[in-house]
Amino acid sequence: MGYDIERFVGYVNEGLLCSICRDVLEDPLQAPCEHAFCTACIHGWLVHHSNCPEDRQMIDVSLLRPLYRYMKNDLNRLQLHCKNREYGCEMVCSLESIDRHERECEYSRIPCSNAGCTVQIERRNLDVHLAVCEYRSRECPNGCGYTILSAEDTQHNCVAELRTELELLRSEMICRVEEAKHEMESRLDSQRRHMVQKESILQNEIEELKVNMILLFS
Ligand SMILES: [Zn+2]
Ligand SMILES: [Zn+2]
Ligand SMILES: [Zn+2]
Ligand SMILES: [Zn+2]
Ligand SMILES: [Zn+2]
Repeated sequence: MGYDIERFVGYVNEGLLCSICRDVLEDPLQAPCEHAFCTACIHGWLVHHSNCPEDRQMIDVSLLRPLYRYMKNDLNRLQLHCKNREYGCEMVCSLESIDRHERECEYSRIPCSNAGCTVQIERRNLDVHLAVCEYRSRECPNGCGYTILSAEDTQHNCVAELRTELELLRSEMICRVEEAKHEMESRLDSQRRHMVQKESILQNEIEELKVNMILLFS
């Protein structure tokens, strides 16, 4: 679908209109017969036809080409109103830069940034909405550290919250103590094994010395 011709300021050359939707060319392609169409329009048309809707010449997707450069330039230079004009945007700019403007337009409707919220709001009003959004979150006013979603209807219970937190910390502590104990034990164990080894080596050396002594004094 093209750009609604009502949005344009001043005269628009007939050649810059799509032969299918009759609006101003959007993302245009040109057939060998030089008729031009919006990409979406001609692709849709060629699903059920194999000719030009203007002059019935045979065409095929593979024959479609980009618009002549001079036509593309004329198209890009056309001035048009922002699509949010009916909501109050007074921006008029070239077709070439309208997309960029509309992406950032203060009057474009965007979804609320809070997860779970389905509200769509004009970008310029987002801050106002965020301050009252049902899905905004805030810290518990009693200082327990819990983040409350305004959408939560259950009464928030600080004591229960703190107790859960405490339980969590406690089990974490126990876990850490257990870990430390294990590590200590395994270290002692390896030292013990080391000592036993040393002892048996020494024992062997003593035995050897004894044998040597006996040999010496015999
Ligand atoms: Zn079209
Ligand atoms: Zn044609
Ligand atoms: Zn705008
Ligand atoms: Zn919201
Ligand atoms: Zn609390």
